[in-house]
Amino acid sequence: MRGDGRLSHDLLPGEKGPQDACGVFGVWAPGEEVAKLTYFGLYALQHRGQESAGIAVSNGSQILVFKDMGLVSQVFDESSLGSLNGHLAVGHARYSTTGASVWENAQPTFRATATGSLALAHNGNLVNTRELSEAVAKAEADRPSSPQQSAPAPATTNDTDLVTALLAADPDRTLEQSALAVLPGVKGAFCLVFMDEDTLYAARDPQGLHPLVLGRLDRGWVVASETAALDIVGASFVRDIEPGELIAIDADGLRSSRFAEPRRKGCAFEHIYLARPDSDIDGRNVYLSRVEMGRRLAQESPAEADLVIPTPESGTPAAIGYAEASGIPYGAGLVKNAYVGRTFIQPSQTIRQLGIRLKLNPLKEVIRGKRLVVVDDSIVRGNTQRALVRMLREAGAAEIHIRISSPPIKWPCFFGIDFASRAELIANGLSVDEIGTSLGADSLAYISLEGMTEATTVPGENLCRACFDGTYPMELPDPELLGKHVLEDPSPASALSRP
Ligand code: SF4
Repeated sequence: MRGDGRLSHDLLPGEKGPQDACGVFGVWAPGEEVAKLTYFGLYALQHRGQESAGIAVSNGSQILVFKDMGLVSQVFDESSLGSLNGHLAVGHARYSTTGASVWENAQPTFRATATGSLALAHNGNLVNTRELSEAVAKAEADRPSSPQQSAPAPATTNDTDLVTALLAADPDRTLEQSALAVLPGVKGAFCLVFMDEDTLYAARDPQGLHPLVLGRLDRGWVVASETAALDIVGASFVRDIEPGELIAIDADGLRSSRFAEPRRKGCAFEHIYLARPDSDIDGRNVYLSRVEMGRRLAQESPAEADLVIPTPESGTPAAIGYAEASGIPYGAGLVKNAYVGRTFIQPSQTIRQLGIRLKLNPLKEVIRGKRLVVVDDSIVRGNTQRALVRMLREAGAAEIHIRISSPPIKWPCFFGIDFASRAELIANGLSVDEIGTSLGADSLAYISLEGMTEATTVPGENLCRACFDGTYPMELPDPELLGKHVLEDPSPASALSRP
């Protein structure tokens, strides 16, 4: 039996940190091993989703899709990749946002069209899922039956398959024409990479909530969620796919069209935590932004201390910045067991009680008697930081000052990042001092919204910061029409809470 492939970032068993938003990758490169390029591209994007992985390849006359639950390295081997031959491919690494984490919801999705077939991979989460579901039902009722499209629709419950169905629905349009007609009606976060037998397409929502970049190979083109995935396959960065842009790549070259006016609102949390530090977003390197967040945090909230330590690994760049700006030495106080998250052995209750120790071990000789600044990227429920404080005190820390390189998370995200419901967020309802007391820290401080924003170098009006300030970048439907299981269980209880 294969495990479910969860490689959690979580330091405490059962205590979810912010979960990522899926990774997408596409390549058009005749003469290259496109399935293997996609495999390595997905490998570079594995941090964005660990529940399932899939690759679709076309040889010009047929699309083959191979997908399964698990990590990229578990789903594919030499023989499965060897069977995926062709000149263009799309791939996906999934963290489930809308729709349960089951095989049927793994991507790329696949549909027959009037003239061939379509495979599609999606990063993000849509907010008008119910509306799209009704549009699909109408399109299917109106559609004259064609032998190609007579196969029953797959039993999926995700928003992505609805977009796939709408793109495939009109027998009188090319896929490119369908995309230009359908995408203006799709609301929420979407970076789409899709293909028919001949052409690779990529599209990004008008807000550009999550990153999507274009790269060049000697003999082709690549699109990917992050620039780090271009680096890993030897592609050079060309440019971002623009918000509201659709590109098509085939034997005639690259065509760009616009399906909506851009209203830039890039996700601030990509800069803080989600994206790899070696990726660039909006022309700015993510590592540099995180170091700068640490510097600003030190200027805004200094501490009398002997040592700055990160919560590994996501707190590391900000801790480096904090140490640099404060003049307090930087050190490693915690060693992370990088492999324990990859086990499929479920810990028993007794072992689970070890909690954070399963993943982090304190360096007692470094910590004992010291006044520590502990730098982390965010606090969701607070249980992880509470366990961390307890462990550091047991290891002999004299004082613990927690510094967080994001502002307090007070609002849920509807665009693909899974934090928790509003009621579960510790910063919803407690002041910073109250949170610090609840964590058992000697002091707690968060970076300001302005400080975080300036560190990214992106103008505030071009960032989504809704999880911090509650200002969402688009109108949202009623709460019962949002949530992970909107297509599975329509009861309001299944929806995320929203003010
Ligand atoms: S609400 Fe937060 S996590 Fe979600 S897209 Fe906006 S900034 Fe990113």
